Formats: sequence, C-alpha cells, structure tokens
Amino acid sequence: MSTRSYDVVVIGLGAMGSAALDQLARRGARVLGIERFSIPHEQGSSGGETRLTRKAYYEHPDYVPLLERAYANWQSLEARSGERVLYRTGAIYLGAPDGEFIRGTLDSARAHGLACEPLDAAALARRAPALRMPANHTALADADGGFLLAARAIRLFCERALEAGAHVRTGETVLSLGNDGDGVDVTTARGRFSAGHAIVTSGSWTGDLLERLRGTLSVTRQTLFWLWPEKPSLFALDGFPCWAAEIGDAPGIFYGFPLLPASLGTTLGVKIAHHAPGPVTAPGVLASAEAHEFEAIRAAVESVFSVPLGPVVAAKACLYTNSPDQHFIVDRSPDLRAATFACGFSGHGFKFASVIGEVLADLALEGRTRLPIDFLRYARFASA
Ligand SMILES: Cc1cc2nc3c(=O)[nH]c(=O)nc-3n(C[C@H](O)[C@H](O)[C@H](O)COP(=O)(O)OP(=O)(O)OC[C@H]3O[C@@H](n4cnc5c(N)ncnc54)[C@H](O)[C@@H]3O)c2cc1C
Repeated sequence: MSTRSYDVVVIGLGAMGSAALDQLARRGARVLGIERFSIPHEQGSSGGETRLTRKAYYEHPDYVPLLERAYANWQSLEARSGERVLYRTGAIYLGAPDGEFIRGTLDSARAHGLACEPLDAAALARRAPALRMPANHTALADADGGFLLAARAIRLFCERALEAGAHVRTGETVLSLGNDGDGVDVTTARGRFSAGHAIVTSGSWTGDLLERLRGTLSVTRQTLFWLWPEKPSLFALDGFPCWAAEIGDAPGIFYGFPLLPASLGTTLGVKIAHHAPGPVTAPGVLASAEAHEFEAIRAAVESVFSVPLGPVVAAKACLYTNSPDQHFIVDRSPDLRAATFACGFSGHGFKFASVIGEVLADLALEGRTRLPIDFLRYARFASA
C-alpha cells in the first residue's frame, strides 16, 4: 500500500482541472483537487455562464477527433448528472469565401465528413432572420454547433468527483511543486501533500508553478457584452442559432449566442464577443469591462445583422492564456518526474474540457493516451 496521501493532485479547478478531477475519481484514483478561489469563480478563463462550441473546426482539422470525443463526454456528464450542459442550437458561420475562417471550416468538414451546409442569402434569412449576408460573404450552417453552460459544467464535474470520493480544497494556493522520489511534493499556503502524480491546470498562473512555461504563455484581457436588441423575439433560444463571423480585416472572429431565458441563470441580453487576443495583462488582473468598449465591436458586427443590436445591458472581462501558435499545450512536464500539464487554451478551450480531462487522467494514471494529442505536445516549441 502506498504511503503517499494521494495518487493524483489536480492543481486548479477551472474547466480543465474539474474535468480531470471527475475522470480520476470515476476511475477510483485517490485524488485531491486544489483551487485558489471557489468553484466556480470569475477570476480566470472559465468564468461566466456560456461558451460557444463548434465541430467543423477552422483552427485545424486535427481538433475534430478530439471534439467528437468531447461531445460524447459532455453527453456522459449530462446522463450522469441528469442536467443539461450542451445546447446544439446549430451554428451559422459567415465570412469571405477565401478567408481563413470559411476555408478552415470547410477543410475540417471535408477531412472528417462533417455536414456543413452552404446557405445563400435567402436561406440565411429563413434560418435566422436577425442575420444577413454582407456582400461578397458566404454562410455555412454547422448542425453540431451550439453552446455549453460553463459554470454549470464545472460545478457538475466537481459534484460528480466529490460523490465518487475526491477531496477538494478551495481558497488554497499551491506555492510550489517538487520531485519526491518517483512522485511529487505539493506545497500550498496551508500544507504539504505527497502524490504519485500532479496535474497542473492552473490556466494563466501556470508559469508560477512550471517555470519553463513562463515565457511561453501570454495572458490577455478579453471583453464580453450583452445587448438588448430591437426585436428580441428574433434572438429567442428556440429559433436563433449561435453564430460566428470573420468580418473585413479584423483579426479573429466575432461570435454570439441566442437570447437565453432567466431559468438558465444567465446574464440578461444577447451575448456578443470578439475572439482575438486583447491587450496583454498579468494573471489574475481583471479590470472590469465598460459598455463603451462594445462600440468597436458594434461597428464590425452591424454588417451581419438585419436589426439594430440595441443598448449594452452588461459587460464583463475574462482572461485568455495564449500559446505562441494559439494551439493548446498538453504534455508531461519536462522538468518534474511525475507531472502533467494542460494550458495555453488561447480562448477556444472550453468545448474541449470534457476530453482534456480524459487525456490528463490517462497521462497521469497510465503514462499515455489513445486520444490523438501529439499535435498539442510541448515539444513543438522546444524543437522550434
Ligand atoms: C472571454 C472568454 C470567452 C471564451 N469563449 C470561449 C468559447 O466560446 N468557446 C470555447 O471553447 N472557449 C472559450 N473560451 C476559452 C475557455 O473558456 C478557456 O480555454 C478555458 O476555460 C480554460 O480553462 P482552464 O481550466 O485552462 O483555465 P482556468 O479556468 O483559468 O482555470 C485555472 C484554475 O487554476 C486556479 N489556480 C491557478 N493557480 C493556482 C494555484 N497556484 N493554486 C491553486 N489554484 C490555482 C485558478 O484559480 C483557476 O480556477 C473563452 C475564454 C474567455 C476568457
């Protein structure tokens, strides 16, 4: 019998850590999760209520098999908890036919046999009357697109893990990690734990614990806005899909959600945001967002709406933890004998949390995974 306190310690219970905790507890591991704030909270990258999900993934076709598994794992979470997390509203993508977004989406759809239906202006107006097609743009409908209830998912992962015997410590910051024989020694502000393995899912703060990653990650401040549109009924959850658009020369994509009912516990209004790294900041530094900051986004997205978007009714800020190439980093630590980390989710990681949790549990307990993550290994930066 091992004299270590835990088989695995998970450091940081945002989206990735809470999913890993659930996977480990379900597999019977003695697992401890440590979180510096509460569960869930709004100081990191997983704060807030909703996240967009897409399957025809423009960022790279190699993400699609992981997404297939992620969707299955979201359904498993729903089945095990009896609560809904994934809303497949369908998603509409707009952009220039030769732009990175539309080309990349079609490449992924073709490579993996995903249905991504082209819509002309009339079909778009029938499917989503609040949207319209700007000149020289094209539209695609992805039936697998939609949104996830983020705070609910994190809560459910942790709830399932606790029910399966996991231990959780909140309001406690991990200060350092060190080798302890073939395991790991975890020092917090309140104690020390020895474990067979550590999983580091500390988001923007990853460089505090894994020094080598300090210069690899950049943290940016991102903003989110909620609007009260002129014709709210056109945005209702039972008719309006999620959407994403590459517009003009603006970097990244703009995206938004249907108008969600109060019963889902979400913020008032229609959520709209811009997915492109914002100004660089430090981990944990989250100035509040101001309504006037939406005006630059409004100027861009007006071209894809047939109705005025109305006033801003809420504004929030959140952090992206960006890797140099905007792709995730998931690997064993090159410095510690028994640690695995996942970071650099670059503003598009939430939809993958349910599969990243599985990958991390595989790597911690078995040293390898059957899931195709080689393109996400840290070694790609080491060799560059
Ligand atoms: C504005 C915004 C919009 C986004 N939209 C989307 C979207 O539509 N679709 C999508 O798929 N993704 C989206 N994302 C990205 C997605 O939310 C993130 O990729 C994901 O939430 C990252 O999760 P994480 O667990 O890595 O980080 P975090 O959620 O930040 O978790 C890290 C956790 O570690 C804890 N921690 C840190 N250091 C320590 C320590 N030393 N000791 C103990 N605990 C510690 C932190 O408190 C935190 O809870 C968005 C992100 C933002 C900010």
